[in-house]
Amino acid sequence: MNIHEYQAKELLAKFGVPVPAGHAAMSVEEAVEAAKKLPGPLYVVKAQIHAGGRGKGKFKELGPDAKGGVRLAKTLDEVEAAAKDMLGNTLVTVQTGEHGKQVNRLYVTDGVDIAKEFYLAVLVDRATGRIAMVASTEGGMDIEDVAHNSPEKIHTMDIDPATGFMPHHGRAVANALGLKGDLAKQAQKTAAKLYEAFLGTDASQIEINPLAVTEDDKLMVLDAKVGFDSNAMFRHKDLAELRDETEEDPMELEASKHDLAYIKLDGDIGCMVNGAGLAMATMDIIKLNGMFPANFLDVGGGANKEKVTAAFKIILSDPAVKGILVNIFGGIMRCDIIADGIVAAAKEVNLSVPLVVRLEGTNVEKGKEILANSGLPIVAADDLGDAAKKIVGEVKQAA
Ligand code: ADP
Ligand code: MG
Repeated sequence: MNIHEYQAKELLAKFGVPVPAGHAAMSVEEAVEAAKKLPGPLYVVKAQIHAGGRGKGKFKELGPDAKGGVRLAKTLDEVEAAAKDMLGNTLVTVQTGEHGKQVNRLYVTDGVDIAKEFYLAVLVDRATGRIAMVASTEGGMDIEDVAHNSPEKIHTMDIDPATGFMPHHGRAVANALGLKGDLAKQAQKTAAKLYEAFLGTDASQIEINPLAVTEDDKLMVLDAKVGFDSNAMFRHKDLAELRDETEEDPMELEASKHDLAYIKLDGDIGCMVNGAGLAMATMDIIKLNGMFPANFLDVGGGANKEKVTAAFKIILSDPAVKGILVNIFGGIMRCDIIADGIVAAAKEVNLSVPLVVRLEGTNVEKGKEILANSGLPIVAADDLGDAAKKIVGEVKQAA
């Protein structure tokens, strides 16, 4: 689960991480009110979307010459103008994809005189299985290029879970950032607080870019991207409230309500499968037959009829879906239950695309019988290869 920059900063501030003052705003009036509460004379109006690259982003509605999603403002009028430009418009950045994201919230924050921009992140390093700190002197808006072109400028330090964050980790961070004296001390402290925040919130990622050194030698977090481990959200009820559902894919959101593992993809064959491995294999074999999956969907081992119905509806609500392949191996799950769910859902939503079903395992005969007697144009398949061929054939024929 990801949160907005302003939420991340409020959270980090509670852990003692230095952030500039700022206030969220949902309207132009609120943005001006927010600026009035700040000392000035420099304000920054920032679009709040769950994607980076806002500074260099472009608003679809404003044309290529307009400024991006992070704007400096010297007066309240400029704050107002920036807010008007951004709210309700669609920001396209390197991270949003070409469709962009609608800006519904702003953050109005203190403008800082920046001397240097660093990069500092805390993440889970899959290679070592440990929490790692990643630091670079080359922070700012081009960190991806740095990682690509000069990886030696990025320093990674992993932290032994048995010791936790030690003073030497802090010194290593300060060193990697080339800081001395009081600024080195600030960096050590900030790194320690970030680690504390990471552990304390069950975060999966805290990325600070930029971590700025100000003209008056203060270390400040100017941008923060924070994500949490969704599996730990049950023990952070307060954090769960920070979820902004408008940032999520509506189909993925609906799926999460039914506890279904669903991920929207770009193809046109909807898939309903039980088991993540079988779901991956199903997607591969669709591609092998020349078409692309519209989604990944694992209904899980113990799905009931309601869950199958919900899954089916989610697949069908995707306008890109031109055909559906159901591939179920009934182990714990019984084929007749699946068949019941498919029939109920197909009747409820007026199935308008070809449907191929491959069932195997417990109660398979009963399941096939339910499908055959349903009166629905369901194509039965015998195995995975057969199923993939059939759905691709059906879709091409229907086109
Ligand atoms: P993004 O990473 O989405 O482009 P950032 O919050 O990192 O957005 O902002 C982009 C750039 O804008 C930063 O690298 C920094 O140079 C500048 N900036 C951001 N916040 C402030 C601020 N409070 N004061 C001054 N400059 C800022
Ligand atoms: Mg940034």
